[in-house]
Amino acid sequence: MSDVTGAELRALMARVPSVEKVIASAEFAALVTEFGRTQVLSALRHALDSWRATAQLGNASVSALDIAQLQVCVGATLRTRNESRLRSVFNLTGTVLHTNLGRALLPDEAVQAVVKALTQPANLEFDLATGKRGDRDDLIDALICELTGAEAATVVNNNAAAVLLTLSALASKKEVIVSRGELVEIGGAFRIPDIMSRAGARLREVGTTNRTHLKDYDEAIGPGTALLMKVHASNYAINGFTKAVSVGEIAPLAHARGLAVAVDLGSGTLVDLTQWGLPRETTVRETIEAGADLVTFSGDKLLGGPQAGLIVGRRDLIAKIKKHPLKRALRVGKLTLAALEPVLQLYRAPERLTERLTTLRLLTRPAGEIRLAAERVQPALQCAIGDRYAVMAEPMFSQIGSGALPVDVLASYGLVIRTADGKRGGRQLLALEKVLREMARPVIGRIADDALRLDLRCLEAADEAQLIEQLKGTHA
Ligand SMILES: *Cc1c(COP(=O)(O)O)cnc(C)c1O
Repeated sequence: MSDVTGAELRALMARVPSVEKVIASAEFAALVTEFGRTQVLSALRHALDSWRATAQLGNASVSALDIAQLQVCVGATLRTRNESRLRSVFNLTGTVLHTNLGRALLPDEAVQAVVKALTQPANLEFDLATGKRGDRDDLIDALICELTGAEAATVVNNNAAAVLLTLSALASKKEVIVSRGELVEIGGAFRIPDIMSRAGARLREVGTTNRTHLKDYDEAIGPGTALLMKVHASNYAINGFTKAVSVGEIAPLAHARGLAVAVDLGSGTLVDLTQWGLPRETTVRETIEAGADLVTFSGDKLLGGPQAGLIVGRRDLIAKIKKHPLKRALRVGKLTLAALEPVLQLYRAPERLTERLTTLRLLTRPAGEIRLAAERVQPALQCAIGDRYAVMAEPMFSQIGSGALPVDVLASYGLVIRTADGKRGGRQLLALEKVLREMARPVIGRIADDALRLDLRCLEAADEAQLIEQLKGTHA
């Protein structure tokens, strides 16, 4: 406790100015205008209370009670408190579709459409032809069908919701046959067996982890079977002695027994990626053509749109899915539909897709161009972090991310930071990683092989200029 006497303490407390007087001062006028009287009052009371508490301990300085000082202190508190928690960062992780950093970045067409949907009423569920109530899926299902070759389509909150809804609507209290090699966990809490039980369906596993044959499916079909399901392995690959049965092989078997085939494609691309030198990924259209009755996929993975789950396929099955009560609970909002439509429209001009669809533009960005960016950023970064570190522009490999093609990598370029003395710099690198992460616009890289690596694939021109500007304002 303090060695302040009661009399001294009373004298100190008498120095605390009245809240009313402070808030009415010229110094506080700008704060009241910016944050409103209620917030300023509460922050000011809080500041004065902590001053009193410090005074009780005998550590308070009277100068902290100056109105100018109080203004600085209260202003800083309010500014911090009102900063958005969702902040822009620089994604230099090398993973283009980074789930923790918000996955796909949207093209300007989608941004404009979202702004409109946010600020003007729209025909979300209003049929302009009849003046009657409409269905929000009508805004977008024809376009999805055109791009996938499916008969019908619907959209929900994300692909996890799409799978949950599909299984709930078509396989509740029944059996779904899945290969053991496809019982995957896809980050977070998405595990096929868990979703299956949540949907009230019984999982019938067939085959083994590495090999499943058509006869395994055939033998498992019984009176309780509702669906045969295939799941994209997304984030893992098994190599060596493997055998999986394709949709094209399963579909005739299922159809001959009066059953449907559902395919969870995960990323679900709409175009053949090999035309741009990217790894091959089966498209939604090919999956439908191979005989899938239903296909589910994400909106914000390779598709390059907003978070959404698309379900496409046979008209009768989609109708059943749309009638299920969960559809209402998992439906998308108008912002999602507003953003999704212009993204899908870009696919009508595939020859311009690498220029207009942000995700594809980033995925196809040539390493030579990224190298030039690395060479431009290098001096600013070296200068900002000082000579305890050495920054080199070096080749590296980016990943697509979000479970698409996990084993494939894209030739890229970036900045590699090592400790200048060449010693193993674990602690020093961690400290630097934190400094970069705490910048006004956080810089997110990754530590691997005793170096902090910043892949510049996702740093396009405007961001590059902003990063260099931010680094120039920083000095080690
Ligand atoms: C990513 C993924 C999901 C989950 O999709 P979300 O849109 O993140 O809900 C489901 N299944 C597969 C195969 C996936 O790759």
